[in-house]
Amino acid sequence: MPDNLTKEQRSKVMSRIRGKDNKPETMVRKYLWHHGFRYRKNDKNLPGTPDIVIPKYRTVVFINGCFWHHHYGWKYGRYPQSRTEYWIKHINRNVDNDVKNYNLLQQLDYKVIVVWECEIREDFEHRMKLLIEEITQ
Ligand SMILES: [Zn+2]
Repeated sequence: MPDNLTKEQRSKVMSRIRGKDNKPETMVRKYLWHHGFRYRKNDKNLPGTPDIVIPKYRTVVFINGCFWHHHYGWKYGRYPQSRTEYWIKHINRNVDNDVKNYNLLQQLDYKVIVVWECEIREDFEHRMKLLIEEITQ
């Protein structure tokens, strides 16, 4: 993030980044809801606070930003040009936590599904059809 933002601008940007209802998550939730799936949002009682928990199928869904979770290819997020070391550390920590949390969830007998931001941007309908197959199979 640039250092020349005002306090208000900064908090606005951060809330957009951290916001619980940032857009890809909302899109996926709406789709699932319209297709009859009932879920909990941001369940803090489970490792990694999954974005979506579908109790009927004992399934959790994470909607991951490609930048924050270092998706292969990084089509929609590149290493920042400034404070590079800081960000690399930060993102590596996210990835470590992801792996840990997915393992813990699997030990708890949850099916773990990751939906990537780029998949949503590239072909939302297709990704959602696949997602439903993954959930119900
Ligand atoms: Zn991606």
